[in-house]
Amino acid sequence: MTLIFLLFILGSLVGILAIVRKIIQQQKHLTDSEVRGIQNGGISLRRSEYERAIRHLGGCARCREMIEDLNAGLEDHLVEDEA
Ligand SMILES: [Zn+2]
Repeated sequence: MTLIFLLFILGSLVGILAIVRKIIQQQKHLTDSEVRGIQNGGISLRRSEYERAIRHLGGCARCREMIEDLNAGLEDHLVEDEA
């Protein structure tokens, strides 16, 4: 009986640790390759990396601004090329 209870506790802890690890990974700011991946629509990222990046962007204004700035820079560059 005690063994079953201990296994249950252990299982719960493993589940909690997995959730905590996921939250910590989600809080890490985007890397250069993830930012580039977002800009090209995710084709250079694995599906899990892309999903993490999108979830992170949902809660991180700093990374959203970084991508917006890069996109603005890209548009400026295109305008320069046309002129
Ligand atoms: Zn961030």
